[in-house]
Amino acid sequence: MGVFCGGFLRDTWARATDRCFRFFPCLSDSDRRSTLFLKVALVTLHLIFPGVLFAFDKDLIDRTREDPWYTAIYLLLFIATLAQYFITSGTSPGYVLDAQKAVDERDALVRRTSLDSKQPASSKNGSVVITVDQNQSGRNYQRSNVTAWTKLVMDLYPPGSSIRNWTCPSCNVVQPPRAKHCHDCDKCVLQFDHHCVWLGTCVGQRNHCRFWWYILEETALCLWTSILYIVYLKSNISKAWWIDVIMILLLGTLSISLIFLLLLLLFHCYLIVTNQTTYEVVRRQRVPYLRGVPQRVYPFSKGLCRNLYVFCCARNSLLQMEPMPSVQELEEKSRPYTCLDVLSCHCC
Ligand SMILES: [Zn+2]
Ligand SMILES: [Zn+2]
Repeated sequence: MGVFCGGFLRDTWARATDRCFRFFPCLSDSDRRSTLFLKVALVTLHLIFPGVLFAFDKDLIDRTREDPWYTAIYLLLFIATLAQYFITSGTSPGYVLDAQKAVDERDALVRRTSLDSKQPASSKNGSVVITVDQNQSGRNYQRSNVTAWTKLVMDLYPPGSSIRNWTCPSCNVVQPPRAKHCHDCDKCVLQFDHHCVWLGTCVGQRNHCRFWWYILEETALCLWTSILYIVYLKSNISKAWWIDVIMILLLGTLSISLIFLLLLLLFHCYLIVTNQTTYEVVRRQRVPYLRGVPQRVYPFSKGLCRNLYVFCCARNSLLQMEPMPSVQELEEKSRPYTCLDVLSCHCC
């Protein structure tokens, strides 16, 4: 009887999931399912904290009636944070295959128009800048000409470097400096920072700025919500013990989240002003292109102001590949700082 019931339930479950996958084909992929689950969980968490507050805090409701702007600004921040989360999640981090495709297409165009075939991409301040179509999909790309791309990448490394033509075995593409293959996305990402499970995508060159704004908004929202909880507990404690227990538990969760978000925000501020990535900081000893670079030297830093400008103002449609500094440049960066360097921001 038990075996029969078990088999029946299994068959019913299989039929129900088959029907579900037929209506929503995207759910048949387990990775997509887990990403969707995390997104639903994140939105639910965002709704729980203010929802509980508005359900129990009569003072807040009265205050909203008297002064609606206060609550309106809070709700605006709430919506902006969620919108920023979905925008960041939907932005491509910048795939190497897309950059390669852009380079090869530019090279083919230059050849067709009989222009200088040795300049497939423009050069700006020593970095290679490539215009990329937003809708390109790297995985479906079939390489037609590896020469232009390979030459371009090799020029980004100092002459004689052993990793100049290192090819990713999964993507079968020559990796430029600062790129890394993400095993979750199964693609090489330009200026790879980390793979964010909550976003369901990598954080890389094209979405790092959006990711920073998302953390900032999330931190502000978390701080504001914590203040609202503290105000409630200070004025309403001992009215109903079980409500206070729920409020204290939620405030504890908010406090832990706030500490984590503040640390994350500060860490990414440090990464931005020094032009580093999380991967380069955490795995510095194991990153092939950082071998031989002295400790406390930021090889890609161009100074505080320039780093901030590139991070904030770099166009979204550009994939900017930075060259590895030469030995002379590294020696220059590793010498002790003077007061003048600190004043002119050359120390970072
Ligand atoms: Zn790869
Ligand atoms: Zn990834």
